[in-house]
Amino acid sequence: SETKKVCIVGSGNWGSAIAKIVGNNVQKHDYLDNRVTMHVHEEVLDGKKLTEIINETHENVKYLPGHKLPANVLAVPDIVDAAKDADVLIFVVPHQFIRGLCKSMLGKIKSTAVGLSLIKGFDRAEGGGIELISHIIQSELNIPVSVLMGANLAPEVANEMFCETTIGCKDKTIGNLFRDIIQTDYFRVVVVDDVDTVEVCGALKNIVACGAGFVDGLGLGDNTKAAVIRLGLMEMIKFAEVFYPGSKLSTFFESCGVADLITTCYGGRNRKVSEAFVRTKKTIKELEDEMLNGQKLQGPFTAEEVNYMLKSKGMEDRFPLFTAIHKICVGELPPEQMVDCIRQHPEHI
Ligand code: NAD
Ligand code: 13P
Ligand code: CA
Repeated sequence: SETKKVCIVGSGNWGSAIAKIVGNNVQKHDYLDNRVTMHVHEEVLDGKKLTEIINETHENVKYLPGHKLPANVLAVPDIVDAAKDADVLIFVVPHQFIRGLCKSMLGKIKSTAVGLSLIKGFDRAEGGGIELISHIIQSELNIPVSVLMGANLAPEVANEMFCETTIGCKDKTIGNLFRDIIQTDYFRVVVVDDVDTVEVCGALKNIVACGAGFVDGLGLGDNTKAAVIRLGLMEMIKFAEVFYPGSKLSTFFESCGVADLITTCYGGRNRKVSEAFVRTKKTIKELEDEMLNGQKLQGPFTAEEVNYMLKSKGMEDRFPLFTAIHKICVGELPPEQMVDCIRQHPEHI
């Protein structure tokens, strides 16, 4: 029978780190085609196309400099060219770009393809409210979509430092396929079937990471940061209970839960930019452009989307930390007032 082809939709910091893993793993299995396509949103660096640079030097010099990609990973600028023959589609773009990509792919991919989303965030649902990114991909492309979320800062994964990750997948066979494609001796996979909760964790922890950054910017210390992390975790659990009934508490103890929350609140981009936001008084957008060289934040957008829903349901005061973080990000609340917003947290009553 024919070999299965893998396409990576995205090539940013995490997309490139995962491309290194996938490019190596397909070579270890006969049933996986050795050629991996990676969709690259084209841009020009010093007069040269990024796809050409990647295909000649096997390095994403803009988004993951200093790391070689396996030579069997091919950078492809056209999304349809990259994805049309794929049996496995790995989605890893900042969440604000996913709808546009799905529109371009609709009707142009294999109907038997399966998806794995590494994207952390929510987007506005078409009929009001918000939707998980994997649900958007699933309904736009009519393919099953599983998720991968975990304590996985991309530069550390690219350096092959040991970590764990969580795959949320309901189908055992597909789960094993994803494990073959993703797992290495330094990147350990646990597959669980509580898919929505895995993704809810991945999306919401980026909001909390902004709160951790504000604590750092305000010079408030480790106890305050721990309180923000804990209250953030309780709001994540509450959010899953209210909006994704049936979610399991045990999922919060997987890598996608507590572990990702911790690593992002210490080492992530959302934390870093949020600290600078307090110290410099610049806007989040200005700092994202200045500090991240084209990489994108997910926390402030996610906070906005979550707030849009909480506000419309009159539930802002049940999630005071999420609410305060959103208001600080958009300049409606000075960061100095974040702690006042959580002094009387529902968890304290
Ligand atoms: P990134 O933050 O490096 O974003 C840059 C990427 O966005 C580049 O590939 C760029 O070409 C692309 N881009 C810019 N404009 C675009 C457009 N108009 N259309 C399509 N693409 C465009 O991306 P990333 O770090 O790979 O993050 C992708 C997802 O993975 C996010 O949801 C993120 O939360 C998640 N994630 C990231 C990390 C990490 O450490 N970086 C770890 C785990 C999960
Ligand atoms: P940041 O986007 O804040 O860097 O977080 C990356 C991440 O999701 C680590 O798992
Ligand atoms: Ca192979």
